[in-house]
Amino acid sequence: MDKIKMNVPLVEMDGDEMTRIIWKMIKDILLEPYIDLKTEYYDLGLEYRDKTDDQVTVDSANAIKKYGVGVKCATITPNADRMTEYNLKQMWKSPNGTIRAILDGTVFRAPIIVDSIKPFVSTWKKPITIARHAYGDVYRDVEYRVEGAGKAELVFTSESGEVTKQTIHDFDGAGIILGMHNLDKSIESFARACFNYALDMKQDLWFATKDTISKKYDHTFKDIFQEIYDKEYKQKFEAAGIEYFYTLIDDAVARVIRSEGGYIWACKNYDGDVMSDMVATAFGSLAMMTSVLVSPEGYYEFEAAHGTVQRHYYQHLKGQETSTNSMATLFAWTGALRKRGEMDGINELVEFADKLEKASLLTIEEGVMTKDLAQLSEVKDKKVVNTEEFLKEINNRLVKML
Ligand code: NAD
Repeated sequence: MDKIKMNVPLVEMDGDEMTRIIWKMIKDILLEPYIDLKTEYYDLGLEYRDKTDDQVTVDSANAIKKYGVGVKCATITPNADRMTEYNLKQMWKSPNGTIRAILDGTVFRAPIIVDSIKPFVSTWKKPITIARHAYGDVYRDVEYRVEGAGKAELVFTSESGEVTKQTIHDFDGAGIILGMHNLDKSIESFARACFNYALDMKQDLWFATKDTISKKYDHTFKDIFQEIYDKEYKQKFEAAGIEYFYTLIDDAVARVIRSEGGYIWACKNYDGDVMSDMVATAFGSLAMMTSVLVSPEGYYEFEAAHGTVQRHYYQHLKGQETSTNSMATLFAWTGALRKRGEMDGINELVEFADKLEKASLLTIEEGVMTKDLAQLSEVKDKKVVNTEEFLKEINNRLVKML
């Protein structure tokens, strides 16, 4: 069989620890035997980030702007321990944060579903994708501890010097105050990213806020979404047979639990933070969550939602066997290859990505899985395999499909 050819390179962002080991195994066992893999390689491993003063992270994000699609391995976000472990020059920022700031994107997180692992919510049959707004609100707030009686006011001074004042509260004792903000521009690009992604996935889009209580703040989110939908997306949604659905956040939560899934749920920053962990846990495992960053210009960066699986890496370094689940990292690759294939009109690449996903799901359905899934799966005859064996088992099934 001839290897599948690619025209435009995929931006490949290597990472750290156990996921870096998995990264190479996926390429060696499942990709390079079948694809003439064309990538522009960026080493986002912590050592090289430190060596280049994190310039490599910025360069990789700019490469995604140039080529349109990237695939990223999990990376260490340094903390005090890592400073000593890697003898770092600086406590470099989270690469994901840096990339997101450059691409101005929205993150969509979706679970990989297998029949033998039942979600904790019994009605859920299809994935629920969470889209989290990644700017502002409580994450960029200003807070104040009131120690005693006094008046708290909200003051805005316009550029021309006009001042408006509102009383927040007349305190007669100790308490707390918080000031937060968001920007129309950021909400607009969040809305467009969600509408575009819904069209891409041919799934309904849900959005919810607390606009009945928050008549200016949350209501602005609701209004911006509705205006953009009516002006730019209504016809496209109708043509695709999908729906935009707005409701109150409390109603949304109740409906999500009773739903069978199969839609995208757009969340404000804090709601997305909380709900994505709830949805991930309810679907079974963090190791089965994929994540894609979509920019308003239509650039894509695919990755696993989990981290570098540090504990397994230390076992690996000691020469011990590991049983690390590579599904989310593998699906980051298939997502990126499929998108590259769609953009470049290379059907074989799209088909290959589909088959590789099918082969990996089949592997788990047939009872072959890593340790983390074995605890969750309802399959009777389970075969627990190590990190490398799992990928080889997928390959055995892939070969038959090709
Ligand atoms: P983690 O996701 O690596 O691990 C959390 C827990 O889930 C651990 O118990 C781990 O064993 C388990 N787990 C996660 N993925 C698994 C898999 N594929 N197979 C089996 N078990 C799996 O998160 P952490 O331990 O909080 O962080 C480790 C490192 O990862 C940190 O340095 C952190 O900065 C980094 N991190 C990176 C990203 C990213 O690049 N997107 C995200 C989160 C954390």
